[in-house]
This record gives sequence, structure tokens and C-alpha cells, in this order.
Amino acid sequence: MAKVLCVLYDDPTGGFPTTYARDDVPHIDRYPDGQSAPTPLGADFTPGHLLGSVSGELGLRAFLESRGHTLVVTSDKEGDGSVFDRELPDSDVVISQPFWPAYLTAERIAAARNLKLAITAGIGSDHVDLDAAIAHDVAVAEVTFSNSISVAEHVVMSILALVRNYLPSHRIAREGGWNIADCVERSYDLEGMHVGTVGAGRIGQAVLRRLAPFDVKLHYTDRHRLPADIETQLGLVFHESAADMVPHCDVVTVNAPLHPETEGLFDADLLSTMKRGAYLINTARARIVDRDAVRQALESGRLAGYAGDVWYPQPAPADHPWRTMPHHGMTPHISGSTLSAQARYAAGTREILEAWLDGKPIRDEYLIVSGGALAGAGAHSYAVNEKTD
Ligand code: NDP
Repeated sequence: MAKVLCVLYDDPTGGFPTTYARDDVPHIDRYPDGQSAPTPLGADFTPGHLLGSVSGELGLRAFLESRGHTLVVTSDKEGDGSVFDRELPDSDVVISQPFWPAYLTAERIAAARNLKLAITAGIGSDHVDLDAAIAHDVAVAEVTFSNSISVAEHVVMSILALVRNYLPSHRIAREGGWNIADCVERSYDLEGMHVGTVGAGRIGQAVLRRLAPFDVKLHYTDRHRLPADIETQLGLVFHESAADMVPHCDVVTVNAPLHPETEGLFDADLLSTMKRGAYLINTARARIVDRDAVRQALESGRLAGYAGDVWYPQPAPADHPWRTMPHHGMTPHISGSTLSAQARYAAGTREILEAWLDGKPIRDEYLIVSGGALAGAGAHSYAVNEKTD
């Protein structure tokens, strides 16, 4: 029988919800590339309910316990004596979400003598030391595409919020004010601006498609050029590198993975080549940008705004400099954890567990590491010797 250790974020401070703002969430069968949404044999949760926090348990308890397996769920993941460290040595499976990552370092993987499978409930397994997973023959899987559109929507929201100066204007309304000039002195139309994405994969391309109707000029850079018909359809301008692209853009969005090519990419030098008053949105990984250089660029006016939801480390400390920098629209790491997305990645997590427990193959598109090597989606997107975030 397997022991499954699941690390989830804390319940709402007001207690686990008993009612929700909406009665349902749309059911998505297929993603834009044709891949089917998760198809578990069963599901013991209501789509649209909170599943990603401790009491939600990703809807897994009835399923696992009915088969005689053990499920341990905790949010306590850091520091000496954390529940995660205590429970890890005899766990067979570890599950966590990138929003509240259980950092599976080389040391922890070495200490986890029974560990055979690490599941990312969501997308992005850079919190797992993939070299160590490969060396110890730990399989790594994630629920590819489950929250890509959720993130793309957050990017579009952030761009509009920054360019339109929405957050300060909302604050003025809440606080009883009515000074229109205070609201509009930093407010512009997105129409006609040049918007570029670093990375045009699942999220980057979804952002481009969603922005096209805003009558903006679209740019991208990627390791591989998109098919010519997509470039034509969306009117895309391709650039060989981020350095080539950013001087042309009013808005830049980062949608590439963290790996040696992208770590620290947006440093003081690259930021200094951006147009004065450009906006930068990063929902990919925090360490793709230089933390202090971003703050300085906002203070100097090089950047007119910065938004995103990824920080380093996570959770971010209370004194993280991004919490108090000017003109930011940061949130905690939430873009991929809407209730809609949770229903998909909880179902995908169950699908992965069903396959693994029954000795059946896990979908190739969910695999990052298998059989002691990068596999499936991991073989395409990841490189070993990566840094974790
Ligand atoms: P994809 O793999 O579909 O797309 C990433 C794209 O970036 C690929 O086309 C890739 O090219 C390209 N790329 C890689 N390196 C570079 C580079 N140096 N310069 C330009 N482009 C590059 O991933 P997703 O779109 O699904 O996700 C992107 C990232 O977003 C994830 O890696 C993750 O870090 C983050 N994410 C954040 C979430 C959140 O909640 N905030 C949720 C989900 C993901 P190629 O394929 O040729 O390697």
C-alpha cells in the first residue's frame, strides 16, 4: 500500500468555505492544441469547490483510502521538524502545487528512501531537483495544460490593470475619493501599443491570441519560430532574442520556463534597453528577472509598471522589496489556481495516481522524468542541472 504525502496551501483565514460565489464552472473537454482535459476513472469532488488548500485535499482522500492507501496532507513544509520533512522518509508519492511548492531538493530526495513519484498538481516542476530525481529513479509528472489558459487570462488582466492604472483608481474609489486627475495621470489605452512575449508556448500563444482583438502590434521571441500561418493570422513580428525584441515594446510579458538561458535574463542591462515607461509582466518564474533591478527600474521610471504572481522564495517574506515598490500589480502566486483550474489539475492528479497505482503508463504529455531520464513533456521543456525556484 502506498503512502501519499500531499503539501497544500492553508485554508482561507475565515475557515474552509461552505458556499461559493458561483454554482458551477464551465466544463472544458479539450485544450486549444487538441489535448484532452484529464480523464480520471472517477472523481470525488465538486468542480468549482476549493481543492488546493489543506481541507480540499485535491479531492483525493476517499479514492486513496478506499484502496487502502494512506494520505497525509499538510501545509507545513519549511524549517527543521516540518511535517513535510517528518513524513517524507517513508512516503511513496509526494504531491504539491507550484503555488506552495514542496521543494524536493537533492537532500530531501536522498532522505526519501521510498519515494517513487513526485506529482506537480499544476504546471512547472522546477521545485523538484530533476538531476536528483533522475539519479534516484523518482518519476516526476505534472498536469500539462491544466492551468495555462488561467495564467494567460491573468497576464491579460495584469496588462490592462497596469496600463489603465486600475489598481490605484480602485483604491481611490474604496477610500471615498473622487479626484479624477489622480486616477488618470498614469492611465493610457492599450490600443496601438507594441506588446511582446518572451516564449510563445501554451501560455505565451494564448496571451497573443487574447490580445490580438485589442488592435495592438504583437511581437514574440522563442527558441523555435511559430508556423508561418499563425504569424500571419496574428500579425506577429518575430525577434531572434529578448534583447532584440524589448526595445520595440511598450509591454513585455514573460512566458518561458526558468532554466539557465532565462535565469536573470531581465537584469539591469536588459531593463535599461526597454522603452521609458514600458510595462513588464512576469507570471513565469521570479528568478527570470533581477529582483532589485526591477525595483530600481520602477523607481527611476524606466518601467511604468510591473506585475505578475511569481516570487522567490515562496511564500515571499513580509519584507520582500516587491511588496512596497511603486506601480506594481503583484499578487501572491495565484494565477494558475483559480477554482476552474483546480478542478482540472485535481482531476489530472487523480488520473496520474490511478495510472501509477495500477501499473499503467502515465500520459506522455504529463511526464517530466521517467525511468531515470527526462521524458515526455520534460524531455522537450526541461534541461538537467537546472536551478530550482
Ligand atoms: P511551454 O513549454 O508551452 O512554453 C514555453 C515556451 O518558452 C516554449 O515555446 C519554449 O521554447 C520557450 N522558451 C524556452 N526558453 C526560451 C528562451 N530562452 N527564450 C525564449 N523562449 C524560450 O510552457 P507554458 O507556456 O505552459 O508555461 C511557461 C512557463 O510559465 C512555465 O515554464 C512556468 O514556469 C510558468 N507557469 C506559471 C504558472 C503560474 O501559476 N504563474 C502556471 C503554469 C506555468 P521551446 O519549446 O522550443 O523550448
